[in-house]
Amino acid sequence: MVVIKKDDFISMQGIQLSNVTKEYFNSQNDKFCALKAVNLAIKFGEFVGIAGENGSGKTTLARLLNGLLLPSAGRVTVNGMDTRQRRVIKEIRRLVGMVFQNPDNQLVSPVVEEEIAFGPENLNLPRQEVNKRVEKALQIVGLENLRQKSPHMLSGGQKQRVAIAAALAMQPDYLVLDEPTSMLDQTGRRRILEHLRKLNRKHGITIILISHNMEDLIGADRIIMLHQGRIAGDGTPWKIFQRDDHTVALKPPNIVRMAQILRKRGYRLDQQITTLEQMENGICRLLKSTT
Ligand code: ADP
Repeated sequence: MVVIKKDDFISMQGIQLSNVTKEYFNSQNDKFCALKAVNLAIKFGEFVGIAGENGSGKTTLARLLNGLLLPSAGRVTVNGMDTRQRRVIKEIRRLVGMVFQNPDNQLVSPVVEEEIAFGPENLNLPRQEVNKRVEKALQIVGLENLRQKSPHMLSGGQKQRVAIAAALAMQPDYLVLDEPTSMLDQTGRRRILEHLRKLNRKHGITIILISHNMEDLIGADRIIMLHQGRIAGDGTPWKIFQRDDHTVALKPPNIVRMAQILRKRGYRLDQQITTLEQMENGICRLLKSTT
């Protein structure tokens, strides 16, 4: 059992990065700074998107959140526990589930339900509790019918859902997903995003979704933009999509671009259009006002 001492606590919930720098060294011992003095607070219950071009530090940030990487300077705390404290690292890894880009690198068991049971079994939980967790996780990601299949026989999207279920079986507070949709087709991608929204809204799990595709982040409460290892923006999707910042050149979603084009052409569309539904309502209002 993990004993958490009083001085391990700063605040009870949330993830906090205070002045976090992460340096890597190559074989010639040259230093490369992937994250530079980053300050960031992620509140329990938020859906946070992390965006940024290749090499901006997204994966480094993700791995710092559950202690897979430790900061070179500064500190990362999860529910008040410092990731550098070795006695709390197991608890931090349980609290912060990780799902990576390529599920093939993450799935190790020959059968779906064994894959999901793997984590809880390692916690030495009673069989009944393990079964209960496997059942619930399968149900949440809608894979009950595939429980006896080999993960390697599944589609990319189904494999990602197995990886998410395996993380859920640990009953995490936070789920960090590093480009989970980048290898999926449109349908697989849409399903994963729907599941993430449900996990956040219905099951109260904090989602930290990393993507260089802004379309994936439309439903986030907040988007954090990384650029060359620093936070270059932090705000609602609407605020971030309006940025006309050439140093952080990420394409806003098509709906947002379409609304911008229509406004430039003189159509008086509503503000804050980021979804298809808002675009539909905006156009209907526009048509009504002109007839
Ligand atoms: P992103 O996920 O945004 O593409 P990363 O966090 O993977 O960014 O990488 C940030 C920078 O750190 C990149 O320039 C990358 O080459 C470098 N980097 C990442 N991992 C290592 C490593 N293990 N050793 C040396 N440099 C690394």
